Amino acid sequence: MIAEILNKLTENPVSTVGWVIVGGLVVQVGLLVGGSTRRLFFDRKRSRLEQERLVLEIKAARLKIVTVETEKTAWNGIRKFTISKKVKEAEDTFSFYLRPHDSKPLPQFKPGQYLTFALTVPGQAKQVVRCYSLSDIGRTTHYRVTIKRCLPPPKSDHPPGIGSSFFCDSVKEGDIVDTKAPNGHFFLDMEKQRPVVLISGGIGVTPMVTMANALTEAGDTREIWFFFGARNSADHMFKTYMDEITAKNKNVHMHVCYSKPLPTDVKGRDYQHEGRVTVDLFKELLPSNNYDYFLCGPGPFMESITTDLTTWGVPDAWVHFEAFGPASVKKKTPAKVEGTTSTAATFEITFSKSGKKVKWDGSHDSVLALAEENGVKIDAGCRAGGCGSCLIAIKSGEVEYAGAPPDVEAGSCLSCICKPKGALVIDA
Ligand SMILES: Cc1cc2nc3c(=O)[nH]c(=O)nc-3n(C[C@H](O)[C@H](O)[C@H](O)COP(=O)(O)OP(=O)(O)OC[C@H]3O[C@@H](n4cnc5c(N)ncnc54)[C@H](O)[C@@H]3O)c2cc1C
Repeated sequence: MIAEILNKLTENPVSTVGWVIVGGLVVQVGLLVGGSTRRLFFDRKRSRLEQERLVLEIKAARLKIVTVETEKTAWNGIRKFTISKKVKEAEDTFSFYLRPHDSKPLPQFKPGQYLTFALTVPGQAKQVVRCYSLSDIGRTTHYRVTIKRCLPPPKSDHPPGIGSSFFCDSVKEGDIVDTKAPNGHFFLDMEKQRPVVLISGGIGVTPMVTMANALTEAGDTREIWFFFGARNSADHMFKTYMDEITAKNKNVHMHVCYSKPLPTDVKGRDYQHEGRVTVDLFKELLPSNNYDYFLCGPGPFMESITTDLTTWGVPDAWVHFEAFGPASVKKKTPAKVEGTTSTAATFEITFSKSGKKVKWDGSHDSVLALAEENGVKIDAGCRAGGCGSCLIAIKSGEVEYAGAPPDVEAGSCLSCICKPKGALVIDA
């Protein structure tokens, strides 16, 4: 397809300027005829315009190719991947490079999507299902994910997270893991030309690295503002990468915030701002609020940024976020989801298999949280609506979701992210 475009563009009636591909690079070749300065000026101008048109057409062609490839090579169910490389990125944080065990081609994915792993963890009765964002664009030979150990809440004596600890401590190069195909609704639309603000705290940086890579490697020149919050250099994952993309791309504006810099951390070298990533910082640095915002980080960080963006006049449609899931902690916080109706009302929820009837008073995050608190067993994996483990049949009643309803079969719900709209009977 790219060769066809090139052939079209070599039809140049005025000069012999044309295009060839040398070693995968598009190169302009030609001999200008005529010789006058004016002619030279116009030929150059036209060449530049042609070059720009060519770049756009090649980008469009690549997008088409990627879509077709994705359709051809995405897989259903589980595929086996070999860990080809494990790299320490920061304290308790590792990148895993995954090569398909069957050596067949890898589907592309949208920057921001994640992989779902079904892990066999010693000591666990069942497979542990967890989602991890792809932390690099799709390479022909491998994917990459980056995983941080999920530590217990402060002052608790609970063990650290099962899945993340298994990856950090036990998974090693040469091991094989079971993985579902890339998925997720949080992604950057490469065809949209709006400038972006990529905002992350801690391990929430993983989808942002992929988005920044996708844009810079495609030669996209839109403005990219990258805000990353970490405690200090010990938590500063991808530091070398961040320095490199900033040095290589004029359109990348990198702002790293340390909340507790170490005495050895140097402002201006290791980080740009002391404190947290805040909307006040955006107000100080961004020329306007007219951007697409992508956010991923700890709950309170996302809550404060989304609220403050709204106060700053940023429409909801420009704000996109990924929650890395309410961790597997039984929370009992008042639910405050805009646009939903279940917050204050009280309904009866019947778990038909276990024969339990309980009250929903709006204080639980989800039907799953209510079930667990009342000793009703429902399988759960990612707890963010990503892996499908908690899909459960609805016998009567309706549920609602905070965002767009997920693509699940009629009469079922993803219990980890739904709330009842009224009285509900579910098959658990
Ligand atoms: C779409 C998506 C993308 C994600 N991408 C990434 C990514 O790129 N990188 C990444 O690192 N993570 C990512 N995550 C998060 C990841 O999926 C896991 O949620 C995370 O690793 C924690 O899982 P775990 O098995 O380690 O912890 P769990 O075993 O689920 O434990 C969670 C927490 O509960 C605590 N805990 C344990 N027992 C108890 C108890 N009895 N009572 C109270 N607390 C307890 C643990 O200490 C831990 O803090 C993503 C999540 C989603 C949904």
